[in-house]
Amino acid sequence: LVRLRSRLSRSQNSLGKGLLTLLSRERLDEDTWEEIEETLLVADVGVTPTQELVDRLRTRVKVLGTRTPEELRGLLHEELVTLIGEADRSLKTAKHEDGRPAVVLVVGVNGVGKTTTSGKLGRVLVADGRKVVLGAADTFRAAAADQLQTWGERVGAATVRGPEGGDPASVAFDAVKEGIAEGADTVLIDTAGRLHTKTGLMDELGKVKRVVEKHGPVDEVLLVLDATTGQNGLVQARVFAEVVDITGIVLTKLDGTAKGGIVIAVQRELGVPVKLIGLGEGADDLAPFEPAAFVDALIG
Ligand code: GDP
Repeated sequence: LVRLRSRLSRSQNSLGKGLLTLLSRERLDEDTWEEIEETLLVADVGVTPTQELVDRLRTRVKVLGTRTPEELRGLLHEELVTLIGEADRSLKTAKHEDGRPAVVLVVGVNGVGKTTTSGKLGRVLVADGRKVVLGAADTFRAAAADQLQTWGERVGAATVRGPEGGDPASVAFDAVKEGIAEGADTVLIDTAGRLHTKTGLMDELGKVKRVVEKHGPVDEVLLVLDATTGQNGLVQARVFAEVVDITGIVLTKLDGTAKGGIVIAVQRELGVPVKLIGLGEGADDLAPFEPAAFVDALIG
C-alpha cells in the first residue's frame, strides 16, 4: 500500500487529497461543491460518475451534520469504492483441464505499454510457478519482438516470434502451438496496435483472434490503456471494443498522471473491469487492481 501510495502520488495530490481538503472546509457552500465537481472532472472521472458522486456526497454530508476528518475520509473512501463498483477482476491464466494453456491476448494502441505489460504479467505468473510462453505478434514494430524476447529472457519465459513484417496471426498461432507442445500454463500474446486505419486494425486483430481460436477459445483479451492520455483512451477503448470482446482493462502509467479518475470512467464506458494497473516501467510495477487499496492510496 505504501508503494501504491508513493506511485500514485500525482493522482493522489490532485484527486484524493484535493477532495478531502475541499470536503473539510468549514462551510460547504455551492462554490465548494463546484470546486469538488471540477476536481473530479479534471481527474477524468467523467461527467455522469462525477454527478453521481457529488449528489451522494452532498446528501451524506448533510445527514452527517458536523464532520470529523475521520468521518469525512471514511465517507469519501466508501463513496469512491462504490463508484468504482464490484466486478470479477480475476484473470484466467490457469491451464485448462484438457491440458491446453490459457491464452491471453494483449491488445491496445502503440506505446500504451502492451509489451511491457506482457513482460510484467509473465513475470508475475512465472513467480507463481507457471510455465509461460510469450508470443510476439507485433511484427510491424521492429523492436517489439526484441523487447518482448528480452522480457522473456529476464523472467524465464520462452518467446515465439516470426519474421519482421510477417503475419501476426501466424505468430500468434505458433505461440499457442508451442505452448501446447511445451505443456505451458499460459500463453501471452503481444499484438500490434497501429490505429491509423481502423479497418486495418479490425481485420488484423479479428484475424489474430480467429486463428488463435483454432486451438480453442481465447481466455482473456486485455485492453491496455495509457492513463495519461485521458479521454483519448476512452475513444481507443470504444474502437477496440467493436473489434474484440474485451475481458479486462490494464491501465498503465498511473504513476505519471494526476488523472487517476480514468479508472472509473473507463469501466463505465466499456462495462469491463480494470483488472491490472501499471505503476512504473520496472518488472515489479504491475499490480492487481483492488478498489479499496486504490482509493486508500488515492486519499492518502
Ligand atoms: P507498446 O507499444 O504498447 O508495446 O508499449 P511499450 O510496452 O513498448 O511501452 C511504451 C513505453 O511506456 C515504454 O517506455 C515503457 O517502459 C513505458 N511504460 C509501460 N508501462 C508503464 C507504466 O505503468 N508506467 C510508466 N511510467 N511507464 C510505462
